[in-house]
Amino acid sequence: MSRYRDHKGPLATLWAALFLALLGCIGVIGWTILTQPDSPVPDGWNPLAPLHVTDAVTLFTPMKLRHAEMSLDSCLAALDGVASLSEMTPLSGEGACGIADRVTLAAVGQSRIDPLQTSCAIALRTAMWERHSLQPAALEILGSPVSELRQVGSYSCRNIRTPNGNSTQLSTHATAEAIDITGFDLANGTTVRLIRDWDGDPQKAAFLRAARDSACTWFETTLSPDYNALHADHFHLQSRGWGTCR
Ligand SMILES: [Zn+2]
Repeated sequence: MSRYRDHKGPLATLWAALFLALLGCIGVIGWTILTQPDSPVPDGWNPLAPLHVTDAVTLFTPMKLRHAEMSLDSCLAALDGVASLSEMTPLSGEGACGIADRVTLAAVGQSRIDPLQTSCAIALRTAMWERHSLQPAALEILGSPVSELRQVGSYSCRNIRTPNGNSTQLSTHATAEAIDITGFDLANGTTVRLIRDWDGDPQKAAFLRAARDSACTWFETTLSPDYNALHADHFHLQSRGWGTCR
């Protein structure tokens, strides 16, 4: 037995070395293909290509989204050509309030937004939601694209509101890491409002469920009328959180 093993030892080592060399070659070739500017790999499928909102959604998208929102430059690059926004100087409010990566946002994709100050991360996540989820759902369920997202604000230096009064914890609105959406206007003139349609017209209610469910893909926290009475008239969408989706 020991003689057999002695005989196989050098051969096994050689095979292992060849295997590792092959893996190394594949790695170098793969890296070269993924990092060249005219890589044949589509950007959505290329884990090394920076995120752009128009890329196909793949298993790499969540990772690339988190990376894109880490700096204002990469966030703005991801939104290039697909949002109407202007970069602003950082805002420092009272206490811990303020907006680090501050932008004024006026549209994402095909949807106008009553201009508001927010963080670039919120602008980016809203643009991903609009393009990859809201528009397909609106076309499928209501037969018309969304033309406006109705919002009631992003930045507000305040604590979290609860059904039992204000909490002592700062709201994510205090750093513009949240946006409140009250409904949608469609290109054909249809209006959809949470307060009226969440339990109203079945088609509109179905669209609002689809909007809420898909927001959970693009935001780290999504609160809807199902969460509590304070959210009966709006979706509260956060760029950070622990995955609450209700
Ligand atoms: Zn909110």
